[in-house]
Amino acid sequence: MASVVVLGAGVSGLTTALQLARNGNNSITLVAKHMPGDYDIEYASPWAGANYLPNLAALHVPSIGVGAPGSNHKTFEINTWPELSRLASDHPEVGIHFQEARVFRRAKDAGSATAQWFAELLKEDAWFKEVVPNFKVLPQSELPPGMDGGTSFTSVCINTALYLPWLASQCLKLGVKLRRGIATHVADAADMHHSGKRADLVVNCTGLSSLFLGGVEDAALYPGRGQIVLVRNEAPHMYSTSGTDDGSDEAMYIMHRAAGGGCILGGCMQAGNWESQPDPSLATRIMKRCVDICPELVTEGKGIEGLSIVRHGVGLRPMRNGSIRVESEIISGVAVVHNYGHGGYGYQTSYGAAQEAERLVKEALREKARL
Ligand code: FAD
Repeated sequence: MASVVVLGAGVSGLTTALQLARNGNNSITLVAKHMPGDYDIEYASPWAGANYLPNLAALHVPSIGVGAPGSNHKTFEINTWPELSRLASDHPEVGIHFQEARVFRRAKDAGSATAQWFAELLKEDAWFKEVVPNFKVLPQSELPPGMDGGTSFTSVCINTALYLPWLASQCLKLGVKLRRGIATHVADAADMHHSGKRADLVVNCTGLSSLFLGGVEDAALYPGRGQIVLVRNEAPHMYSTSGTDDGSDEAMYIMHRAAGGGCILGGCMQAGNWESQPDPSLATRIMKRCVDICPELVTEGKGIEGLSIVRHGVGLRPMRNGSIRVESEIISGVAVVHNYGHGGYGYQTSYGAAQEAERLVKEALREKARL
């Protein structure tokens, strides 16, 4: 039995630990500075919407950190959908439900940062139309005023406040030990295994913190700041648009979380911005844009004063120039498998990335046993 430390308890660390625990005979300790239940600017996962909008696989815009040519991103998204769909269909306790996603395009947004970010998502002939059910091009009659085109498909929305604890519980059920801890160097995590012995391997799932983590210090990482408003109001569908009239790094999206999780109104993608506090003017613009696109959010005749706010939030997406990093290497004599840099797509790539991390863990442990 090999001993493994998974560093990080966001969606990446929890899904990887679960994947390893389900399919192997390893003794696993998951160590993290932040755990499900915490809300912190260094912990992206609780702030996510979170839904499945495949969009970046074929994009090549390094400045905004999207998938490079031939990146693993598309494979991860394809391999994640079946599990999210299975959980939404068969396991209501997980906090994932199906929702129709409606994606609207304005001709005038062509070339803007948001339109580039959403480039694949906005296509009427999108590559993922064979992955998600019920993909269709919307007729003009179903477009809100000012929109030039749109598509819809069946997606999921995840209530992260239920889903992250559920992932942790599944890990515990399979014998994974969860501990709080902070590693300053990735190799030091090997000494955090619950057995007290040095672990055979460390899986690094520290998200944006891999920019600073000793032994990793990956300069390709940067924050993609996202600001949201969580409201009690309900939206009939999920909505996204190709841009807004409020600046090229601002966005409009709405998603209704499963099981009483409230409705997430977003947002923005502010590259390189570390600000942890919500900007009140941006919050007002977000709410106004959302009510404009989806007046059903509020009772007839009301504007944003009809929204019932649970909280304002800010999260930093762990953007990475190039792509998500799922790779193995030896650092200071310790076998390390990385799984970080999931940008704004950590949930929708989670199972695909964890499967690849699992493959690399098995390969590294075999190699270690052989030596
Ligand atoms: P994190 O969640 O940041 O977790 C990192 C973990 O590592 C934490 O437990 C932290 O404590 C731990 N850690 C870090 N450094 C150390 C250390 N030195 N020692 C010990 N522990 C350490 N994705 C989607 O798929 N769909 C969406 O709709 C979506 N919407 C989003 C909306 C917003 C506003 C934001 C901000 C993000 C959104 N995302 C979405 C992206 C998604 O949230 C991230 O990609 C994902 O949460 C990254 O998860 P992670 O586990 O890699 O990192």
